[in-house]
Amino acid sequence: MKGKRVLLRCDLNVPLSKDGSGNTLITDDGRIRASIPTIQFLLDSGSSIVICAHLGRPKGERNAELSLRPVAQRLSEILKREVRFAENVTSTETQSLANDLKAGEILLLENIRFEAAETSKDENDRKALATKLAVLADFYVGDGFGAVHRKHASVYELAKALPHAIGKLVAAEVSVLQKLTLNPARPYTVVLGGAKVSDKIGVITNLLNKVDRIAIGGGMVFTFLKAKGYEVGKSLLEMESIETVNSILSQAKDLGVEILLPTDVVVAPIFADQSPSIVSIGEIPADQIGLDIGPESAKMFAAAIESSATVFWNGPMGVFEFSNFAEGTRKVAEALTRVNGLSVVGGGDSAAAVRKLGFKDSDFGYISTGGGASLEYLEGKELPGLIALQ
Ligand code: ADP
Ligand code: MG
Repeated sequence: MKGKRVLLRCDLNVPLSKDGSGNTLITDDGRIRASIPTIQFLLDSGSSIVICAHLGRPKGERNAELSLRPVAQRLSEILKREVRFAENVTSTETQSLANDLKAGEILLLENIRFEAAETSKDENDRKALATKLAVLADFYVGDGFGAVHRKHASVYELAKALPHAIGKLVAAEVSVLQKLTLNPARPYTVVLGGAKVSDKIGVITNLLNKVDRIAIGGGMVFTFLKAKGYEVGKSLLEMESIETVNSILSQAKDLGVEILLPTDVVVAPIFADQSPSIVSIGEIPADQIGLDIGPESAKMFAAAIESSATVFWNGPMGVFEFSNFAEGTRKVAEALTRVNGLSVVGGGDSAAAVRKLGFKDSDFGYISTGGGASLEYLEGKELPGLIALQ
């Protein structure tokens, strides 16, 4: 590796917020820290590194709000060395920045998703971008676990365009996921929440023949409640998924899989950290939004979790960013820390939530950096980013 240049795909997709004066803050740097072991290994081996990563969903357009610049700064603080930054991924200037790197030097490329080709459905677009990126390095190392389920240029085509290796984070993630899939100790409970309703509803069908119980909270639960005939007021709702949900519920019944739904929820009149009230699921007011599972439900979920030997959790139970709606997530996290067996928390926001609520990484069996990626692995899907590295 000495004197070689490595293009390292990392997952640096960290949650951001703004301070009072409008500066961007990194709310949870877990994914940056999780990338350090591979970066350090490469530096110790005498190579230079070009890091490629994405942030959010800029949809192929430059967007100052989603620049990786603040990430370069944090990375530099953690590594205690300079991290250079390339504004434009494919420019000749970036090529010379890469060429000039000496052993132990790091260049971070701007958000790769500013390039429309990164996520293009057209394989030729992606290949063209991969070819431009490939000239920046001698080797490719895939360590962006949170993106391995995406057939994107920097995840799939680029890995194939250069001699490649699997990064330490991806290897660690996969070894935990193997424990969750090859003969997991039972009862096996999966807890799902969060905001990406349609992404996650699809997942459940595929998990039904693998687990004993699925507990559902977060934004997606209102589509379930609606399917069961409850009114959900102004809560997140996906009418087009109602049919899927009904079929999930009947399949679960046939397979003997328990689906745990909340019996009470915390609602508020507006999407803000104020005026919470607890109502039973039969009494959600038409003009209110469900923002957390209620205390009775949290207790029920906790009991199911604590009596399990294997638990995988993805997606906060409520809008934990608001302290009035964080209690469901806290109770579920607490229950996971008491599991006598393997407990895994997955997902960028879920990991941020448990840290924000004051839990330590060591309270859990493993905190995965991937939400969607972990779920797709558990479903038994083939992940493009892993296939390319095989
Ligand atoms: P992860 O990143 O862990 O995979 P998601 O991105 O799917 O999780 O979801 C996280 C987001 O879900 C959080 O920002 C949280 O505020 C939001 N969320 C949770 N419950 C609700 C709800 N009832 N209504 C709206 N948003 C919710
Ligand atoms: Mg998220």
